[in-house]
Amino acid sequence: MQYIHMTDVVNLLGLPAPPQDRSSYYIRCPCCDTDPRKRHLNINISKNVFRCPRCGASGGVLDLYSLYTGTPRGAAKDAINYKLGTGSVVPTVKVKSSAVPTVTEYPMTDVDTRDATYTALLGKLSLAPDHRENLIRRGLTDEEIDVLGYKTTPVLGYVSIAAQLQVEGLYLSGVPGFYRRDDDTWTFIHEKRGILIPVRDVDGKIQGLQIRRDNVAKRKFRWVSSAEKKDGCKAEGWTHLAGAVQSEIILTEGPMKADIIHVLSGSTVLAVPGVNTLKQLKLTLRRLKDCGLQKVKTAFDMDLLTNINVQNGYNNVLRLLNDEGLRYGTYLWDPRYKGLDDYIWGHCLGRHRSE
Ligand SMILES: [Zn+2]
Repeated sequence: MQYIHMTDVVNLLGLPAPPQDRSSYYIRCPCCDTDPRKRHLNINISKNVFRCPRCGASGGVLDLYSLYTGTPRGAAKDAINYKLGTGSVVPTVKVKSSAVPTVTEYPMTDVDTRDATYTALLGKLSLAPDHRENLIRRGLTDEEIDVLGYKTTPVLGYVSIAAQLQVEGLYLSGVPGFYRRDDDTWTFIHEKRGILIPVRDVDGKIQGLQIRRDNVAKRKFRWVSSAEKKDGCKAEGWTHLAGAVQSEIILTEGPMKADIIHVLSGSTVLAVPGVNTLKQLKLTLRRLKDCGLQKVKTAFDMDLLTNINVQNGYNNVLRLLNDEGLRYGTYLWDPRYKGLDDYIWGHCLGRHRSE
């Protein structure tokens, strides 16, 4: 068993790294800093302690680990040593209860933290010409594409991007997509090449990311998730709001489709990830109702008419709208067009658009 250094735990937790030549620095306090720009938690690397003068949270390396992971303090030492590969005790063997983490995933951080990290990540990436061309074919202008903030997944360089983010004071742990490699450096999941799509909440904050994968026929859209990765984090089936909150909105399937309908029609559009993923929809509808939402117009793809699974999901959507006391109606359009976005675009130009 070795002495545990604050720098090891800071890195383990994916917290911002200390600025160069500084042994003491401030990060956002997980207990009292609700504003993500505030930094009240002082971390002292040389003294191996942390303290927040605002709320009084303080302690040593074990307390810090316990604070961020929810691991009981008594189990923190074994858990840290196990993760650092310096422990002789495998915590899952020693304690059979769930007190010691058996999975290596982190609980998800709050939306402000995720928004800050994802915004900074996307800021380091660009949109490849073929992806821009694809979006222009869907009817978007260059300016509209830039506002949406879509980016192309990079082929290489995630380790250095993750390190840069840490130096810039951003959090990686509890942010779906980030995880630690076998050599303990932080990185970001790398799957197929595609377009990264920010999935935003009612306040416009990025809750998560989806990838529209190039050249696949099935499951074209996937969540950016580092579930089952070392110190990774699982994505949720978030909803996505495109446009300002209004008394009447359109409800569709898929964040990218929502963005395109919003840009082409000017209407505010809410997207569920799929008609069978409705857990987050209820929460979002309640928030929107508090902001004045009264009526929802559903606009799901026309294969609704033929696919029984989609139809069952759709019926659940209508039941939920009804239970929430919202008025609702359905957009019906020419079934030769699969989605409302296709219809609006095809209608504008008087021609059917090919995928
Ligand atoms: Zn505090």
